[in-house]
Amino acid sequence: VFICFEGGEGGGKSTQSRLLRDALAAEGYRVLLTFEPGDTPVGKEMRRIVLSPETGALAHKTEFLLYLADKSEHVETLVRPALDRGEVVITDRYVDSTLAYQGAGRALDAGELEEVAAWATGGLRPHLTVVLDLEPEAGLGRFEGRDRIEGESLEFHQRVRQSFLDLAARDPEHYLVLDARDSIEEIAAAIGARVAPLLDR
Ligand code: C5P
Repeated sequence: VFICFEGGEGGGKSTQSRLLRDALAAEGYRVLLTFEPGDTPVGKEMRRIVLSPETGALAHKTEFLLYLADKSEHVETLVRPALDRGEVVITDRYVDSTLAYQGAGRALDAGELEEVAAWATGGLRPHLTVVLDLEPEAGLGRFEGRDRIEGESLEFHQRVRQSFLDLAARDPEHYLVLDARDSIEEIAAAIGARVAPLLDR
């Protein structure tokens, strides 16, 4: 089973993905918790390049392709092998982040990006994507422009937020959208309830 966490900055993706990992592990499931960008040796380099404030301006397509290089490495060396071993894989960010940030955020053509992203991942789609939705004003306050993306304009982050919501609305069967302002316990419970039936299959 393949589960993704998505959403803008400061919505609690890493907290909730860890809580889900811990809960499933306590029930005896073997779980891989991973993230994008940067959870492979090559991906770590990609992450440094795309996020370091020292990188300076990058062509939007270059940025997109670096994220996709990270993604294809991630899928091929970590995610698919774990799924093949029968593990539950939880990732903090996946394809939707690329569609939201490099697509809606950078105003690249969504259809084209989706096609190339599907190619880069071999068409691997999550069984469930949890979107932790938060207005950018609230989420960004926690970071103060720590990296290149967090320093983008409010409008950029609003487009990103809307893109996650649009992707979820298009395919409700595979999405769970939660209000990131709810308590950690409430959010974890809602996620647990939605994940449980996936594990029985
Ligand atoms: O989730 P995390 O904080 O590790 O993400 C690192 C940064 O990369 C964030 O600022 C996020 O906005 C950015 N990002 C991006 N495009 C992606 C994935 C992440 O701009 N496809």
